[in-house]
Amino acid sequence: MKEACGVVGLVAPGRDVAHLCFDALYALQHRGQESAGMAAFDDHQITVVKDNGLVSHVFSETTLNALSGSLIIGHTRYSTSGSANWTAAQPVYRSAGASGFALAHNGNLTNTAELAASVGLTMTSMLSDSDLVAELLAREVQCGVTLVEALATVLGRAQGAFSMVVLEADAVHAVRDPRGFRPLCLGRLGPPDAPDGWIVASETPALDVVGATFVREIEPGEMVTIEGTRVTSTRLLNPAAGPTRLCIFEFVYFARPDAYLLGHQVHGARRRMGELLAAQSSVAADLVMGVPDSGVPAAEGYAQASGIPFAQGLVKNRYIGRTFIAPDAAQRARSVRRKLNPLRETIAGQRLIVVDDSIVRGTTTRALVGMLRDAGAAEVHLRISSPPFAWPCYYGIDTPSRDDLLAAHRDVAAMRDYIGCDSLEFISLENLRAAIGLRDECCDACLTGHYPAPVPVVIGAAGARW
Ligand code: SF4
Repeated sequence: MKEACGVVGLVAPGRDVAHLCFDALYALQHRGQESAGMAAFDDHQITVVKDNGLVSHVFSETTLNALSGSLIIGHTRYSTSGSANWTAAQPVYRSAGASGFALAHNGNLTNTAELAASVGLTMTSMLSDSDLVAELLAREVQCGVTLVEALATVLGRAQGAFSMVVLEADAVHAVRDPRGFRPLCLGRLGPPDAPDGWIVASETPALDVVGATFVREIEPGEMVTIEGTRVTSTRLLNPAAGPTRLCIFEFVYFARPDAYLLGHQVHGARRRMGELLAAQSSVAADLVMGVPDSGVPAAEGYAQASGIPFAQGLVKNRYIGRTFIAPDAAQRARSVRRKLNPLRETIAGQRLIVVDDSIVRGTTTRALVGMLRDAGAAEVHLRISSPPFAWPCYYGIDTPSRDDLLAAHRDVAAMRDYIGCDSLEFISLENLRAAIGLRDECCDACLTGHYPAPVPVVIGAAGARW
């Protein structure tokens, strides 16, 4: 699984918003390493700088200095819709209206074909679902409505996941879809009685890095508008019947461990996942180790709850970026060795409990288990801090088709045999929810097949028709 974009919007009169936005995007680099971009308004025009690559590669002092003004939005991208080509990098710009506008999007729309057809377009003529939204907004604005009115019309017809920031001449707008699949939070720069700026971002660490104070999350269906040092809130979209549906994998894997989501710190939730995994069943072992990075807090929790010593058994190469080569199964297996290397002296002769966050195709997990056995592990007991991943995601996470998901057509015993470990156990959905401290506020469609928003396939009692 790959993360699927981070967004930032910032308004701070008199401050160097380009460097602040750079720092915020840097804090969101884990959400997308394919491309990065910013769009700023400088009292005359919108300037967009974007390119393929990491935030630190795309921006230099020269490009940051070109992004003057006090309003800016930014984006880190992993393509889950449309082309990975640099032309699809965000923010997306349109010249409609007095000054034009730019938008950046985290999530995936699920009714793009219908939206495109409504104005005589096809998705093959669009770079991505974000490009389609920009095009639909531009057509509305060209008919004489304001950008806010256009957002209400276009996003009111959109289905699926969107946490979006939109820049125009005098304002930055931040909108979250009616179910709140992807996170989006608001922070304040300066003291509460005299703020000198505001920031919206996908995760709270982007607020921390610019010295902003967390204020609150953007509500599902809400639009927050920042103009100068003033913030206003509008109920732009009808909230969906039922509670928020924040992606449960934000807690398991995607979000930074220092992030807070729905009032819960991600690191603590991951530790509790390990504790509850240990409570689910026991196995005799010598060491507990986590698969870096997101498996480590769960392994620490497992070790503490089980009394089995925690050890670092794998070293991660932190400089692995996104490969632009579409990997086959063999390449995926090799990529494990590029990314992880076992500490042989720690592992040799030991009965290991290995905690990882998820199993998607199973190819990398199988390669990992083989690597640990090659390093001399006596036994490998795999513990997974999410239930079996049996259904594809349509809401902004890059997952393979159902036929390629290991859990789609196999029970746990068959998965264990394929992976080649001595035992395999997944945390139950009940325990995962308990670890997070939430019940119905999370989407868990990839674990249950219960999709909270329409998807572009038919899901029936007998399963999905693709
Ligand atoms: S289907 Fe899974 S990965 Fe996608 S939003 Fe829902 S919980 Fe997250």
